[in-house]
Amino acid sequence: MKERTPLVKTIGLKRYFYSRPGFLARCLLGEKERTTKAVDGVDIYIEEGETLGLVGESGCGKSTLGRVIVGLYAPTAGQVLYEGKTEPNGQMIFQNPYASLNPRHTVRQILGVSLEKRGVPLEEREDESVKLLERVGLTPLHLDQYPRQFSGGQRQRIGVARALAMRPRLIVADEPVSALDVSVQAQILNLLEGLQAETGVSFLLISHDLAVVHHASHRVAVMYLGKIVETAPTESLFENPSHPYTQALLSAIPRLGATGESRIRLQGTVPSAVDPPPGCRFQTRCAHKMDICAEMEPLPVEIRGDPGHVVWCHLRASKS
Ligand code: SF4
Repeated sequence: MKERTPLVKTIGLKRYFYSRPGFLARCLLGEKERTTKAVDGVDIYIEEGETLGLVGESGCGKSTLGRVIVGLYAPTAGQVLYEGKTEPNGQMIFQNPYASLNPRHTVRQILGVSLEKRGVPLEEREDESVKLLERVGLTPLHLDQYPRQFSGGQRQRIGVARALAMRPRLIVADEPVSALDVSVQAQILNLLEGLQAETGVSFLLISHDLAVVHHASHRVAVMYLGKIVETAPTESLFENPSHPYTQALLSAIPRLGATGESRIRLQGTVPSAVDPPPGCRFQTRCAHKMDICAEMEPLPVEIRGDPGHVVWCHLRASKS
């Protein structure tokens, strides 16, 4: 049987940033160039019409991964394939739509820029813009207004309309609701869900808010220090977290009847992405660390009886 090609697939994806160390580090330590390994060998896939939630602490590389996937950053190594091809067809929506919308442009101009990029003729742009606004719950009356004249939720709707103007197959939503009031968060998540049902667009939903990810994702990937450490269908991940890092993350979610004792408090320090430890990157904080963890990078292990649930941990390899 022919294997189905996912909408998006990353293969060994890496994105490093190079910087010059400060004067003291150069003179005293002899450092020449620093390499921050923000994304360091990521293999994930996203199916058509699917939402993949991406979670992990801030600084773990989630946003960089999203930017590489939509083509805002070039990969240092590896590939992003859209249905097997290297042309990206993704757009991004951001946490702070106000910062990402040109304050001197009206909504008509903001959408016009994207429609022009897509090659829509000038005479059709007005109609297209109206359709886009209506799709995100705004009206033609908003066309001549500036971003400052909108509420936070409305600005995010404009950000979504701008992304849709490019007819993307994938939208990377980077903390799309974290700057909004709770009541508005639900409206934006419902909007995204509705657009997916209507158009089949896929989402990579980047969020530190596990409740948002639980509610809105079909599958979840957990990232730690530039690498994916666990991925699973959403219910499997939340019911049976198998990587010690995921267990600690999920134990922090307040639950009815749970005591403070059920929370796993991580010890140790987060290593720098400039100089990650060899072997498992979580070893400096893991209560289950074994000798092998410092020597060998864990390989992916599928959890028995739980299809699609994969974990990168020596502990699981020894149990499977
Ligand atoms: Fe802990 Fe070892 Fe698993 Fe890493 S590989 S999470 S150090 S048990």
